[in-house]
Amino acid sequence: MADATAPSPAQARVVPDPTAGPAIVQPVVELRGVRKSYHPGTPIETEVLHGIDLDLQRGEFCAVMGPSGSGKSTLLNIVGLLDRPSAGTLSVCGEETTRLDDHALTKLRGHSIGFVFQYHHLIGAFTALENVMMPLLGAAGFPNDAMRERAAALLDSVGLRPWQNNLAIHLSGGQQQRVALARALAMNPALLLADEPTGNLDTKSADAVFELLRQFNREHGTAVLFVTHNAALAKRCDRTIQVVDGSITG
Ligand code: ADP
Ligand code: MG
Repeated sequence: MADATAPSPAQARVVPDPTAGPAIVQPVVELRGVRKSYHPGTPIETEVLHGIDLDLQRGEFCAVMGPSGSGKSTLLNIVGLLDRPSAGTLSVCGEETTRLDDHALTKLRGHSIGFVFQYHHLIGAFTALENVMMPLLGAAGFPNDAMRERAAALLDSVGLRPWQNNLAIHLSGGQQQRVALARALAMNPALLLADEPTGNLDTKSADAVFELLRQFNREHGTAVLFVTHNAALAKRCDRTIQVVDGSITG
């Protein structure tokens, strides 16, 4: 007969282990001493990032500001595993990336990171729905109903469900950027990298795209690095870092 005083397996799972230490909350992004040089070992070698230290926590929405040419895009490309640092270490979702090969980086990027750029990079001859399905297709290789439903729900969340079957080239700039945002969020990434996503938009569309980013960040705990020249939008982020001449100055 079962011992009535013993906890059921379900109860046992919720009883905290008094011998366990505090839960370790790992940052989504952790950079230590990251440097980036272009043309290393040649007479035109240029170091554009000079030892960056940066932590981004789960759910944190961080603005990145600084003059043109200061290294903001280089920093985002490195954090996004599109480029490798010349020195230093970079962890993404607890995984130290500098020792990973290209295949492992591609896999980690596909599962953990969404991108939105100044230009939307949609495929004009595909519909809004097909564009949003692209990252989902990467995993399975062919479309299925679950992917279509997920893409339609994402388009709904950015207010574009009625336009889901429109070709991307037939959408306005603001609508195209909202499709790009839905595509970036398709895999529910832990990290969203947004490099001047509102830079090409009128004030109203910029505000709408920013609000959608903020909403997704709050609802899903997505960490966001948001490059912008717009001080009013930066003020609405959790914090702002300034990149000046390849260093974080504040
Ligand atoms: P930001 O995004 O802040 O405008 P970038 O990160 O694009 O700045 O550029 C930082 C510096 O790195 C600039 O001086 C730029 O000219 C240089 N740079 C960027 N990409 C390359 C490259 N592929 N080769 C050489 N220099 C580069
Ligand atoms: Mg840039």
